[in-house]
Amino acid sequence: MTAQTTREPTIVDSLPKAELHLHLEGSIRPETAIELAARYGVNLKREEVVARYNYSDFLGFLEAFKWVTSYLREPDDYALITRRLAEELLRQNAAYAEVTISAGAMLRRTQNVEANLIAINETAKSVPFARLRMAWILDATRQFGPDAAVEVARCASQLQRLGVVAFGMGGDELAGPTVNFRPAFDLARNEGLHLVCHAGEVGGPESVRESIATSNLCTGALAKQTGKSDAALKDHPLAQFIKQGLTITLSTDDPAMFHTDLLTEYSVAASLGLSSQQLVQLAEQSLSSSFLPPEDKRHMLDEFRAAAKSLLL
Ligand SMILES: [Zn+2]
Repeated sequence: MTAQTTREPTIVDSLPKAELHLHLEGSIRPETAIELAARYGVNLKREEVVARYNYSDFLGFLEAFKWVTSYLREPDDYALITRRLAEELLRQNAAYAEVTISAGAMLRRTQNVEANLIAINETAKSVPFARLRMAWILDATRQFGPDAAVEVARCASQLQRLGVVAFGMGGDELAGPTVNFRPAFDLARNEGLHLVCHAGEVGGPESVRESIATSNLCTGALAKQTGKSDAALKDHPLAQFIKQGLTITLSTDDPAMFHTDLLTEYSVAASLGLSSQQLVQLAEQSLSSSFLPPEDKRHMLDEFRAAAKSLLL
């Protein structure tokens, strides 16, 4: 939802939760961006990365995203950022993550998506990360058009053996209605993939109606959704949504670029007045709303509930 420099711990900190909306490329912290650039002979200063990540609107954010991903050139670059992300997730006691990967950007740069994904998947499955399970959502970029999206859907379908569970679409929401991308979504669905779609970041409620909700403060999404140009954290409808019984999950989206992490998001939710029970409910929903196979989901939920029970007693 927003950035906090210091945060209050919450009951959820130690629970084995999931993160479902998280971009691999948006998790590149300044230190890692510097490391990546150095691989290509570019001497980046920390201040420059911080300045790049300090955009003022959604298009500025997309520019920053494009800039940092320009240093992702080889499978080993993807391995590095996967390792850093997995370390971060483990530190926050995440047991499972569905990570979005911009295959649209890889294809645009004529990279080998399969080679990149092999590097990503091998890293995620390596010994230090045994307590964490990661699955992949291959994302098309809306402004690259419907044909490019079909290519991403095809890649996603062919790479399910490497842990791809869904096809998604991100990018500039105003670059054409979702209906134009139907062939890509149909292809992915017919191949057994789940489907996700970014909406409500720059479009208003009508855009959400045609897909799904988000409420990011950093991209101005909340201002759009509430119709209040100065919308702040206090205007966030989270508590109201919960009261209405909606299924909600908390995620960081692009944690490095939004200056947040998963534990911070739960702290922010607590600052909106949510009780410990409600925080636990949100964390439980992160697992129950996942694309995990039913048996694995049941197993993870059992572990979660046992851990939560001991904390809530
Ligand atoms: Zn996103």
